[in-house]
Amino acid sequence: MRTTVGIIGAGPAGLLLARLLHNAGIDSVVLESRDRAYVEHRQRAGILEQGTVDVLRAAGAGERMDREGLRHDGIELRFARKRHRVDFPALADGRSVMVYAQTEVCKDLIALQLKEGGPLLFEAEALAVEDADTDHPRVRFRHGDREDVLECDYVVGCDGFWGVARQAVPSELTQVFERTYPFGWLGILADVPPSHDELVYARHDRGFALLSMRSPSVSRLYLQVPADTDAETWSDEAIWGELERRFETADGWRLERGPITQKSVTPMRSYVHEPMRYGRLFLAGDAAHIVPPTGAKGLNLAVGDVVTFARALTYEKESGSAELLDAYSETCLRRVWQAERFSYDMTTLLHRAPDATPFEDRLQLARLERIASTRAAETDLAEAYTGFPFE
Ligand SMILES: Cc1cc2nc3c(=O)[nH]c(=O)nc-3n(C[C@H](O)[C@H](O)[C@H](O)COP(=O)(O)OP(=O)(O)OC[C@H]3O[C@@H](n4cnc5c(N)ncnc54)[C@H](O)[C@@H]3O)c2cc1C
Repeated sequence: MRTTVGIIGAGPAGLLLARLLHNAGIDSVVLESRDRAYVEHRQRAGILEQGTVDVLRAAGAGERMDREGLRHDGIELRFARKRHRVDFPALADGRSVMVYAQTEVCKDLIALQLKEGGPLLFEAEALAVEDADTDHPRVRFRHGDREDVLECDYVVGCDGFWGVARQAVPSELTQVFERTYPFGWLGILADVPPSHDELVYARHDRGFALLSMRSPSVSRLYLQVPADTDAETWSDEAIWGELERRFETADGWRLERGPITQKSVTPMRSYVHEPMRYGRLFLAGDAAHIVPPTGAKGLNLAVGDVVTFARALTYEKESGSAELLDAYSETCLRRVWQAERFSYDMTTLLHRAPDATPFEDRLQLARLERIASTRAAETDLAEAYTGFPFE
């Protein structure tokens, strides 16, 4: 098989890239190791930055999002039994975010790709990227019980944190920056309308909690738990009881309970692989970087990377200049590090470390009070949450 751009992975990064390239008249082939149903039902992110919303619309993939997504103009911070609303449009130049699940973004992009785009092969597992430092990179892959080779002009590794693309970059050219956290998120999906119409981020002495939603009838809620927690050790009753304690306010706010349909624990990690390019192999999304989900940045960073790549390749095709492709890693890393910083700040602002001292508890509360009482601190949060520009 031969194509211009070989894309490994059909998560949000790979699928959107295929769409952007198709719209620019550039052919691609997408290889995805899992089957379609798995990719369409994997529960993950749900908050789209303004820039991501704009890109999906411009790519022709925004129709259902605009119909079914929920525009949010703010979030609530909850601490010391008080509530503080951050008003995004007022603070961040009119910007807002959209609640629309990653599963739905993937379904929309898969449907478009299968209808109008180039080949998208499910159950096609990339085994290795070869000759990345030459003009003819190749992806060796297994499809069914057959091994095959995809010959490309460029390969984009959109294969997530556990993928193979990153392994093709020689370790002596690689720098990795990493931090793991001693806690994770126990996440549930529940068939009950969200108890608040915007996301609630709660800092509590017992740990962090987040109220989010997938639709007007489905709530998504999270609890900070120790990193090695088995979700099955938490009964539904214990989960609701703990959520109620952490969200409690002095004004008597109530959390509505409902049947829990899914439970899982997500580990928390910050990770950056530099550079994001080696020869004709480009890394995008979770293949190159991970953020803890507190800032809702993972999916949006993946979108930012592929927008940068698609623009750079289009520019090369139109002008003959590889200037933007050469700047790919540097351009993406500028945005990546801002998202790493914000995600780290939000995580350390709201989670309670197992060895936290009373001094650190007071500092967290002082940081939250500062956001709640000064426009400059609140604006910094609103600008970062609604998103950094795509270059
Ligand atoms: C459990 C979990 C919960 C999360 N929750 C949130 C959240 O609440 N908010 C938030 O902002 N972010 C969240 N994230 C992060 C967000 O979902 C990711 O940042 C986003 O999925 C990145 O998209 P991607 O396309 O780069 O990678 P992925 O979505 O990981 O897609 C990679 C794709 O590559 C495929 N693949 C892997 N290896 C191969 C191979 N060898 N050959 C072919 N295909 C391969 C995979 O099957 C997958 O489909 C979460 C992540 C996880 C893991």
